[in-house]
Amino acid sequence: ETMGTLLDRIAATHPDRPALIVRAQHVRLDYRAFHAEVERVAAGLLALGLDPGDRIGIWAPNRAEWVVLQFAAPKAGLILVNINPAYRTHELEYALKQVGCRALVLSRRFKTSHYLELLTELAPELPAAAPGRLRAARLPDLREVILLDEEAAPGTRAWHELGALADAPAYARLRQVEADLSFDDPVNIQFTSGTTGSPKGATLTHHNIVNNGFFVGEGMHLTPADRLCIPVPFYHCFGMVLGNMACVTHGACMVIPGEGFDPETTLETVAAERCTGLHGVPTMFIAELEHPRFRQFDLSSLRTGIMAGSPCPEEIMRRVVNEMHMSEVTICYGMTETSPVSFQTVPEDPLERRVDSVGRVHPHLEVKLVDESGHIVPRGVTGELCTRGYSVMRGYWQDPERTREVLDEARWMHTGDLATIDEDGYCRIVGRLKDMIIRGGENVYPREIEEFLYTHPHVLDVQVFGVPDPKFGEQVCAWVQLREGAQVTEAEIQDYCRHRLAYFKVPHYVRFVDAFPMTVTGKVQKYLMRQAMAEELA
Ligand code: ATP
Ligand code: MG
Repeated sequence: ETMGTLLDRIAATHPDRPALIVRAQHVRLDYRAFHAEVERVAAGLLALGLDPGDRIGIWAPNRAEWVVLQFAAPKAGLILVNINPAYRTHELEYALKQVGCRALVLSRRFKTSHYLELLTELAPELPAAAPGRLRAARLPDLREVILLDEEAAPGTRAWHELGALADAPAYARLRQVEADLSFDDPVNIQFTSGTTGSPKGATLTHHNIVNNGFFVGEGMHLTPADRLCIPVPFYHCFGMVLGNMACVTHGACMVIPGEGFDPETTLETVAAERCTGLHGVPTMFIAELEHPRFRQFDLSSLRTGIMAGSPCPEEIMRRVVNEMHMSEVTICYGMTETSPVSFQTVPEDPLERRVDSVGRVHPHLEVKLVDESGHIVPRGVTGELCTRGYSVMRGYWQDPERTREVLDEARWMHTGDLATIDEDGYCRIVGRLKDMIIRGGENVYPREIEEFLYTHPHVLDVQVFGVPDPKFGEQVCAWVQLREGAQVTEAEIQDYCRHRLAYFKVPHYVRFVDAFPMTVTGKVQKYLMRQAMAEELA
């Protein structure tokens, strides 16, 4: 199925069910209206002169138009390129050039950043060009700039003009284009989070994304009665696949609290819309649980949701189950390159497994764990996780070299994550290969020390990583975020560890911080912390 035929089918089956609620924009669409809007925009995009296979970028926070474009671009045979809203000119130029975007949809303002001004830096010709006639020297492929805000600026078009362009011939062209689409066509280029370095553009097909969204929704038991609150960014697979695709494949409703993540707005939305599900990375759930007015929000409608994206501490999982009513919360493990999910806990799993593992492998996927020489390791032994099957990307967009580094000839995706799988098939993510600390010949997994430090009563959040050391190769370093008002010293943290952990795991350095360097997806960038420590110690 293509993304377009999927939506046609769901809209025909559940026309009156709510599809999309965006509170900040006062948008409430049922599936009939959502489908009609998607068709209008798809026909409008073709009427602009875009051709199937062209890339169209979207550089905007979570808004209704984002979801519409997510389905309209594929209907028109265009390849949607998700651009991180936090990017600035340098990164935007890199992303647009790398994939040769012909059109770019953007928001005029997002909080304090002015997208259009940033773009004008790259394409100074913009204000002088007529819409569709842009020939920017630094962005030779870019022709169309579409603004999400009310009025178009010089050289751009307004989003609402797309609907106006959708005349009968445009719809006829849309039908023709749709008839030629295959589910194996690329539909989306998603950039990885950039947690370990510069982001890579994974090329995904209809088949990849539609099926993954479907299986994720199955794991959550989604039905048209569900209303899923999605505060995670759309530009990332967490928002667009685990959120939007999982909903649409099951006729459930997408509820968008706001443009960016805010714990209070999210809690308010869940309560006001009686949401049955809530997604988040662990740091988001922590922010919600710690919110001073947490107890005042009625979260009793919640049943499910997904925690994913980075290691999900047991402690936080238990609090989400007990304090947020999310008795069926599931953990997902995946990566952008695999559409993304390959492991998921399901409500049927015993609670113990649901808090301490990422569950069992998803349907129709193969998985193996290998050692440094590529041999499969015995059950229970740590190895690099490799996955294979329908969900694996085509490759990084026009980057065969970096593709070859992760995707071997037999189409195994080498995830770069270390894991164990037990006799029953439950998988535990031990950490990233790149984050593993080798201290004096001992392998140290930061995750284990982090989990231990979460049990300290004054510790709110903690990140452990390795820093270069002339004697041991690497030393263990912990950055600790304390609970409000708590007073703890470096030595106290070390003592706490010394009683319960082997000496080589005890953090040699402990630093107290207010925040960690993070991607917009809320992932902690340890490579930046390593850099900061290297500078401090130099
Ligand atoms: P980059 O590849 O650009 O450095 P990234 O790997 O963070 O960034 P994503 O594709 O967004 O980009 O994230 C995938 C990674 O997130 C996985 O490889 C894994 O390390 C981590 N991850 C995802 N889910 C989980 C989970 N449930 N538990 C532990 N780690 C997870
Ligand atoms: Mg990665």
